[in-house]
Amino acid sequence: MAEQYVKDVCKRLPKLELHAHLNGSISSSTMRKLVERYRQTLKQSSSDFSVTHGWTTTIHKGNKRTLKECFAMFKIIHTVVCDEEAVTMVARDVVCDFAADGIIYLELRSTPRCNPSTGMTKISYIEAVWKGVEQAVAESNFSIDVRLLLSIDRSRGAADALDTVELAKEYRKSSPTNVVGIDFSGNPEVGNVRELLPALKYAKESGLKVSIHLAEVPDVNNETSLLLSLPPDRIGHGTFLLPSNGGTIENMELVTNYKIPIELCLTSNVKCHTVPSYDQHQFGFWINRAHPIVICTDDKGIFSTTLSEEYQVTAQTFGLSISDIRELSKQAVDYVFDEDLKTKLREKLESDGIKSRPH
Ligand SMILES: [Zn+2]
Repeated sequence: MAEQYVKDVCKRLPKLELHAHLNGSISSSTMRKLVERYRQTLKQSSSDFSVTHGWTTTIHKGNKRTLKECFAMFKIIHTVVCDEEAVTMVARDVVCDFAADGIIYLELRSTPRCNPSTGMTKISYIEAVWKGVEQAVAESNFSIDVRLLLSIDRSRGAADALDTVELAKEYRKSSPTNVVGIDFSGNPEVGNVRELLPALKYAKESGLKVSIHLAEVPDVNNETSLLLSLPPDRIGHGTFLLPSNGGTIENMELVTNYKIPIELCLTSNVKCHTVPSYDQHQFGFWINRAHPIVICTDDKGIFSTTLSEEYQVTAQTFGLSISDIRELSKQAVDYVFDEDLKTKLREKLESDGIKSRPH
């Protein structure tokens, strides 16, 4: 198939994004606005200024960064996204970007952050995110439904994890359609999973959906077993799950038997060097097994990608047909965390299929 044709189909295809970190999804143009605002409005001292000097949030094609360097990028973002106004700007722009790329349903994840120097609290952070989402939905010419996952940052310890779950419970109760679950993420080389597991169990017992980043790095099979014992409602990456990649048969069978959907983010993995090349990505293994999978971006700003491009590169690398691509997008509905929206989303995808069928 001609490259341009596949590109157009992937762009027009209504898509669902289930693995997008808010701060990692900031585009270069939003980042420019944030840095400018940080320098001028907040009148930072010269030492702070050096933090944002020479910033680059986008990894240009061919300019590969290590996983460690990717996490360093988040430090710059956290510096400039320092108060509610910045958080709202980010959420609004990110949702608008996704809507313009043909996303009809977005699950956005973020760690509630406080900043004593600006007075931002975890609660005002969550509310600032939702304010930005509402602005985007009202302003956008596109139809998009957005739900939030609150992220547990594994480097912050058990008390913080529990606090995040309590907040998610509270927000789901008071506003049942916004917060739908918990994400477990952060630097995979930091944090003790055994200490964090009770918070994740509590989230599940409380009826929250749970998506877990696991097996992102090699040699963590015991940690992976612990996390799979929950079991998670979805898995992020699972890069080193397969025995052919250093994982265990037991863990792979657990994932297979429970049919746990896996969120696959190809460009993120290739650019972080956790997968050597697109054609060696675990997508090939899982699609051949007909295992539930969903294509996602992870951090579209950091990795300079879009969901359309992720569908395109997947189709071209693995020789998928147009109907395979449509099927992938349709299947994603089965894995969304807001059960109440599934019928509406299926109808939307169905009506698109009718529109695009040749006469
Ligand atoms: Zn992620």
